[in-house]
Amino acid sequence: MPDQPTTPDLPDPRTQYHSGEFPEQTHEWPGFDHKLDPKADHGESTYRGSGRLLGRKALITGADSGIGRAVAIAFAREGADVALNYVASEQDDAEEVAALIEQTGHKAVLLPADISFEEPARGLVRDAVSALGGLDILVNNAGYQQSCEDLSELTSDQFDKTLRTNVYAMFWITQEALPHLSEGASIINTTSIQAYDPSPHLLDYATTKAAINNFTKGLAAQLAPKGIRVNAVAPGPIWTPLQVSGGQPPQAVPKFGQKTPLGRAGQPAELAPAYVYLASAESSYVVGSTLHVNGGETSP
Ligand code: NAD
Ligand code: MG
Repeated sequence: MPDQPTTPDLPDPRTQYHSGEFPEQTHEWPGFDHKLDPKADHGESTYRGSGRLLGRKALITGADSGIGRAVAIAFAREGADVALNYVASEQDDAEEVAALIEQTGHKAVLLPADISFEEPARGLVRDAVSALGGLDILVNNAGYQQSCEDLSELTSDQFDKTLRTNVYAMFWITQEALPHLSEGASIINTTSIQAYDPSPHLLDYATTKAAINNFTKGLAAQLAPKGIRVNAVAPGPIWTPLQVSGGQPPQAVPKFGQKTPLGRAGQPAELAPAYVYLASAESSYVVGSTLHVNGGETSP
């Protein structure tokens, strides 16, 4: 009897990426990828492109680290030029991403700007359009998340900053981008499992993620007749700097993600294919959807 054929590369999703606990750690906001322990996986050594975004021009906010970094790497390997937005103090992280993009032969444009204010948020779009020579893909991915255990301690300043970064910036940036987007363009917003299953210590943040989902669906219906698709991605617990720079209480970091059915946190690399799919023409009939990438947590 010949040997049964074997499947050489069938990874077990429970152990495909880091599956143990994490060391407790706290970074100063906005957190830094190069200080994460263990390092996050953004697909640097695994993501293989196949020309799915050839010649596209993309703007990604929060692109220096975490999910945005993984998306930036994947978009470039699929053939896109990419403008990267981030907070000025994240310059080192952003330069690492730019170097990876440049290895693909595609353009990386570094555009630090604090998008929690209207002028820099709108200026970012103008700078991206002028540096890229147009815009086909917009990924509203930057986010602000600070844990606060008790409503009585949630300050107006924090509430305001969370809303401005997560909701207002999406509105300003998308509105400014719209005149530059033509048929076939794609807008992708990063929402969260928090939109459906809010953690009690993330009231302000979870509120914004529900708003992002809602905005996504309404805008999708508005823009579909113009040939522009709008969708969202809803990550579950993903190992990124946001979580260790105030996003979780420090004592929650070691077991971060372990309550998911897969029993581990996700890695940014596991998110990138969802964004590539929504950005590419392969998802031409997908409009106003939210793709859930969350290790099996219950979602609609
Ligand atoms: P991250 O820290 O790597 O990325 C967030 C980025 O937001 C930062 O790098 C920063 O550049 C950007 N940002 C924050 N405030 C900004 C401002 N005022 N101006 C410009 N940029 C600003 O963390 P991440 O987890 O990859 O976050 C990316 C997105 O994913 C966020 O929208 C977050 O809410 C969402 N998300 C994350 C998780 C998770 O578990 N990590 C889960 C669900 C949703
Ligand atoms: Mg960052």
